[in-house]
Amino acid sequence: MSVKRYCEECRIEQTCRIVEKPAIYEFRGQKIEISQRMVICTECESKVYDDELDSETMVTVARVYAEKYGLTVDKFALLENNSN
Ligand SMILES: [Zn+2]
Repeated sequence: MSVKRYCEECRIEQTCRIVEKPAIYEFRGQKIEISQRMVICTECESKVYDDELDSETMVTVARVYAEKYGLTVDKFALLENNSN
């Protein structure tokens, strides 16, 4: 899957691809491992900022945390709905 995004490294709009990579985030003092979707510039291979995917990542981290530590996901579901 390829998309057009402005790349800060190349300083022009480039063809980018969406990749899924394992990543570890710290959330409420816990290390949370997720599979993160991110936009990568096909020219320089650097990560390109993407509002939608970056907020999706935060929602995923919160959800994994909730599943792992047995918290209710209700308030995270609310967060998810608001990000659309
Ligand atoms: Zn680039």
